[in-house]
Amino acid sequence: MRPVRRRDREEQADAKPQVVQDLQGTADWGGLELEKSIINSILFMGYEKPSEIQEASIPWLLQDRDVVAQAVTGSGKTASFGIPMCNMVDPDSRDVQGLVLVPTRELAQQVQRELSLIGRDRGVGVVAVYGGEPIAKQIRALEHGMPIVVGTPGRLKDLMNRRILDLGYVKFAVLDEADEMLDIGFADDMEFILKRTPSTRQTALFSATIPGFIRGLIRRYLDDPRWIQLVSSSKGLETVDEVDQIFYDVASQDKADGIMEILDNIEEDSQILIFRKMQVGVDRLSKGLAGEGFAIKGIHGGMSQPERNRVMNSFRDGSLRMLVATNLAARGLDIPTISHVINYDMPENIEEYVHRIGRTARMGKRGTAVSFIGEWDFELHEQIVVKIGADKMIRRQFSFY
Ligand code: ADP
Ligand code: MG
Repeated sequence: MRPVRRRDREEQADAKPQVVQDLQGTADWGGLELEKSIINSILFMGYEKPSEIQEASIPWLLQDRDVVAQAVTGSGKTASFGIPMCNMVDPDSRDVQGLVLVPTRELAQQVQRELSLIGRDRGVGVVAVYGGEPIAKQIRALEHGMPIVVGTPGRLKDLMNRRILDLGYVKFAVLDEADEMLDIGFADDMEFILKRTPSTRQTALFSATIPGFIRGLIRRYLDDPRWIQLVSSSKGLETVDEVDQIFYDVASQDKADGIMEILDNIEEDSQILIFRKMQVGVDRLSKGLAGEGFAIKGIHGGMSQPERNRVMNSFRDGSLRMLVATNLAARGLDIPTISHVINYDMPENIEEYVHRIGRTARMGKRGTAVSFIGEWDFELHEQIVVKIGADKMIRRQFSFY
């Protein structure tokens, strides 16, 4: 089996199509026994061997065990559940057998894309359902019969209430970013959804942070789970070593000067994600910086979904180099070209800090996180220093102080 990697294929667009290979049966991928068709797809994606979390979690998931997996941002958690899920479903059945719950629409789109790539050569169909887009299109996709559904809890519940979506045949359910789903008020919807799947289903929970408040959820919905914790710190919070974490003290009224000083000193080809607390703050800052001549856009939950898609797609393909976002972009998004994350406003808590700065320095790449410590952020900053480690922090001062 010699797969052609995507990059190679793009370079030789007129190369002969691949010889059809025998993809029946199983083979070995870095010590894991998987369907040959799955291995063909993931090698094509450039996944030559399992990442650490994949190596630790996939064997248990293939053995039908429930799993709680905690591993740092950008370590390959999506494929950790995506590979076993695509490997186990019956691609020819019209029943929903794999279910993935995620907190945001953009993450639903991204996870759908990755799972469709993994399942491509096995013919595994994957559909994403989420709010803000015409439900009719999603209904048509579901009626087609897709073995895997990825969705946000609200839209999933809506489709179940309309009797479009039947989760009575789910074999494997995944809660990606479970702590965030609880945090943003999806607890009831998650309960509604999971109660309507077979109690015999397999369940897995993935996040870079597993705070205490999700233990109740784990007790209720997971059966004797295998805990896989690849974050080494005893505090349970870990950021990747490849990210430089830089902090500036700055008063609120000076943040605008501060961001100009930062942006003036960042290399031309950087890709920058700036976080703000409020939607109105996102609009103000993106307008302000656009007025200074920067090509920048904003994204937040107050925008229409087509507009969100346009902005996110241009940021993904690199045509947009600067984006201001609310916490909606804090979780899960995988845009490997992001070189800088800037916390113009600090997040509400330390978990969100870990996830936000995790949008850079993914899968071994380097990245920079810049955080503005305002008048009200001393407590959070103190926590970050204590729990993540003073050795990881760099203090700098603005020239105007
Ligand atoms: P996480 O969910 O842990 O934050 P992702 O699942 O988004 O991380 O994966 C991070 C990046 O690593 C993605 O770009 C993904 O395509 C890539 N990736 C995942 N698994 C592998 C692998 N086995 N080999 C190489 N790259 C991988
Ligand atoms: Mg993820």
